[in-house]
Amino acid sequence: MIKKPKSASEPATKKPSPRKDLSPLAEDIIANARDGIYIVQNGKFVYVSELYQKITGYSDTELIGTDSLKNIYPEDKEKVRTQAIQCLKRQSADPYEYRYITKSHEIKWILETVSPIMYGGERATLGCFMDITGRKKMEEALHQSESKYRSILEGIQEAYFEVDLEGGFTFFNDSLCRITGCSRKELTGANYRQFSDAESLEKVIQTFKKVYETGNPVESLDWQITRQDGTKRYIEASVSLQKEVSGKPAGFKGLIRDITERRLIEQELNHVATHDALTGLPNRLMFSQLLGHSIRSAQRRKKQLAVLFVDLDRFKTINDSLGHEAGDELLKVIARRLKQMLRAVDIVGRMGGDEFIILIEDLDDLNQVTTLANKILSAAIKPVVLMGEEYRVTTSIGVSVYPMDGHDEQSLMKNADIAMYFAKEAGKNNFQFYSENLHSMANLRLKIEKNLRHALERQEFSIAYQAKVDFKTGAITGVEALLRWNNPHLGSIAPVQFIPVAEETGMIVPIGRWVMKTACAQNVAWQRQGLPTVCMAVNLSLCQLMDSHLLGDIKAALKESGMAPNLLELEITESMVMHDPERVIDVLNKIRAIGVRLAIDDFGTGYSSLAQIKHFPVNTLKVDRSFIRNLPDDIENKAITLAIIVMARDLKLTVVAEGVETEAQESFLREQVCDEMQGFYFSKPITPENFADLLRKHTDSFKKK
Ligand code: C2E
Ligand code: MG
Ligand code: MG
Repeated sequence: MIKKPKSASEPATKKPSPRKDLSPLAEDIIANARDGIYIVQNGKFVYVSELYQKITGYSDTELIGTDSLKNIYPEDKEKVRTQAIQCLKRQSADPYEYRYITKSHEIKWILETVSPIMYGGERATLGCFMDITGRKKMEEALHQSESKYRSILEGIQEAYFEVDLEGGFTFFNDSLCRITGCSRKELTGANYRQFSDAESLEKVIQTFKKVYETGNPVESLDWQITRQDGTKRYIEASVSLQKEVSGKPAGFKGLIRDITERRLIEQELNHVATHDALTGLPNRLMFSQLLGHSIRSAQRRKKQLAVLFVDLDRFKTINDSLGHEAGDELLKVIARRLKQMLRAVDIVGRMGGDEFIILIEDLDDLNQVTTLANKILSAAIKPVVLMGEEYRVTTSIGVSVYPMDGHDEQSLMKNADIAMYFAKEAGKNNFQFYSENLHSMANLRLKIEKNLRHALERQEFSIAYQAKVDFKTGAITGVEALLRWNNPHLGSIAPVQFIPVAEETGMIVPIGRWVMKTACAQNVAWQRQGLPTVCMAVNLSLCQLMDSHLLGDIKAALKESGMAPNLLELEITESMVMHDPERVIDVLNKIRAIGVRLAIDDFGTGYSSLAQIKHFPVNTLKVDRSFIRNLPDDIENKAITLAIIVMARDLKLTVVAEGVETEAQESFLREQVCDEMQGFYFSKPITPENFADLLRKHTDSFKKK
């Protein structure tokens, strides 16, 4: 029910006309005001302006006398009431917002200010009522788009950042916190530079500077940072300039991606590509890069450096006989020993196989290298336990020196390698410095290796036969098969030159098989020609002795030729036996078991003592030519030869003197009751035809006697 206001002269049923209470000036002001105006007295409208009516959709007759809170959105009613009460108490109040339900049931946002006034002599409230629905909608839309934008930013893996021109973070998403390991609070206002690692800082600063100067964005800036907890991360950033509306640079923005995993994988791959998997040492590629650096630095500082090529002797034999695992273990042990004896600045790498390479920088004196090479030789030879057994390996070392032996990494490495080959040739377990002379020898060696590959199939080999004569009877009792090689390019190459190459490359196995077959067949051919039966001696190499097919090859040669096993005598050297005595003795016993004879060749030159010989199942000892050479004048050689003859007699071994060239030697040996002799004095190694002639004539002359 609408009560008539005290000041109103009209009855309540009649439309009130508040304008009567307003001065023309006030009416003018109200008419032009941007706000709707109302007056409430005792909670009821006593005046509403036209704009107010327009906003609300209610006419003044519908509003005057009604509850001023009636159309307010229920949830906001309390707020408005409080504001109104406060207004009456405090005389004025701050603007506030609320929702209003219009006549057409539209909800409008209202911004209202209320002030206490006197109206018709009584206290009343004057309200300025502004429709802010449009602005509110815009705000809402903005808010929504902002939260959408934020949720997109938070949803991406990449970190988004904005920094001011000094580099202080002004805006960023949570991913940046994750990448830097900082809380939002810690990051706010922090500078990007404080995360940057020293190595990348300068580059990063320069990049930002470039973006500032050119205005062009940078796409992938590699950047290493240290997180709050001290761990390092690799990141990739894009950076672009942020501008004010005026176009003036305001700061930078960009995206950051954490590429640590990818970078670690790359580094791992790089490590794999540059290091040897077994020993973890730099590989050939890496070593040659490091050497390249060192050469340039040595050049600048006018210093010398040395490259040592270290190769294990007879590694192949260990690998073949004990298996790859043992071989790998041996390589690891040697790698460790080499590393231990070097200074931190020196580099040791693995070239592959059993080859190691060492770089010694800042060399003042070549004696330094000599000392080190000797140290390596003695460190390598220390026992290594493989498969529960102790083994000893020796090394051969080749040395090249910058700038003397080469100016670039390739030639220094190659020349050290050449020098190493000559260390092998010089009997292994030693070191050699490179020299020009070695170079031409190495070239010949390479040519030999290349041509040797086809020598067998091209039938370039032949065998020369050298007689062995019995001192007592004067009869030819045996013959030694000595391999000859005639190559169309290289001519005739001596066995001492090509046999080591054939041994190193393993080619000696098929070649040796051919020698055995051919020699046996030849011996049977002589017998068929009616010549006296002789024993055929064939030389064996270590590779053949270690070859699992050896026994089969011997049996095949005997079977194919039809030669009696006891006519075959295989010659091995004492160093072959000493290599791995147990295994070799086992093989030798198997050979003896099929009836084939065994001889120790070049006896006296190896390391075996006379006492050790009795453990070997051999029939013959061949005294090395070097002892015979100076007989009978050289007292020492005389003594050794005599000792060998006496011991051999005790052991019931046949003693053969090798390399008998003179009558004096012959008669001395005859006096000492040596069993047989072989040497130029009686016959040089000759062709099979010539040997057949020799044998025939010699036997005939016997018969005549
Ligand atoms: P070796 O088994 O000790 O053979 C004896 C060497 O001494 C032969 O050299 C022979 O020609 C030489 N010789 C014999 N009598 C005299 C002499 O009175 N004075 C001098 N100055 N030398 C004499 P060759 O034929 O050059 O063979 C050298 C080495 O090559 C052989 O030494 C042997 O170890 C190896 N060899 C030869 N043929 C074969 C083969 O078929 N297989 C293997 N694995 N090695 C072989
Ligand atoms: Mg021999
Ligand atoms: Mg010999």
